[in-house]
Amino acid sequence: MAAKKVVIATNNAHKLEEISRMLSPVTGWEFVSLKDCGSFPEPVEDADDFEGNARIKALAARDNTGLPALADDSGLVVDALDGAPGVFSSRFAGEDATDADNNAKLLELLADVPDAERTARFVCTLVFVDTDGSEIVAHGSCEGKIGYEERGANGFGYDPLFVSDDFDGLTTAEVPAEQKDAISHRGEALRAFIREFEG
Ligand code: IMP
Repeated sequence: MAAKKVVIATNNAHKLEEISRMLSPVTGWEFVSLKDCGSFPEPVEDADDFEGNARIKALAARDNTGLPALADDSGLVVDALDGAPGVFSSRFAGEDATDADNNAKLLELLADVPDAERTARFVCTLVFVDTDGSEIVAHGSCEGKIGYEERGANGFGYDPLFVSDDFDGLTTAEVPAEQKDAISHRGEALRAFIREFEG
């Protein structure tokens, strides 16, 4: 019998790569990307928290594909900016902002903020919705500080500025993918999701 499919509800190629890599040990299911399922309009992410936005993306994918769907909503929470960019992480510097634009804005806003006050965390919420309406919600986070310049070529988004508490001064863009997966917000949320999903 063919494996039952689950669609990973993200158009972000970097997230798709991370999620697919970490789901690869799960057997008996085939995790497919939105690209494999035809196209439909991206839903408006207008919830005011990560879980709400992840649910919007998961429901849109499930309803448009007829497949169970797993969505991620994630972002960077900076203490000195009262939690910004938060749910606006991907569009911090504007609707069509690139990662470089967002990182430049973050550095500018923190220019006068001393080291001890540059604390931040990545957070991730995953929402899985099945075709029968049942749902799994999983969370993850990882702590660090915002650096003073971009460092490293791995990862994506704010990784070149995120100096993880786990890596002795390195950013999450300076470590190999497997090391980021082991401590990352998305890694923690995916491990919690897999535990529930596999029952
Ligand atoms: P979303 O697609 O609306 O969930 O936006 C997530 C945004 O948060 C991304 O575009 C990045 O800017 C940021 N982000 C989320 N996870 C990571 C990560 O693992 N590394 C770096 N930036 C991230």
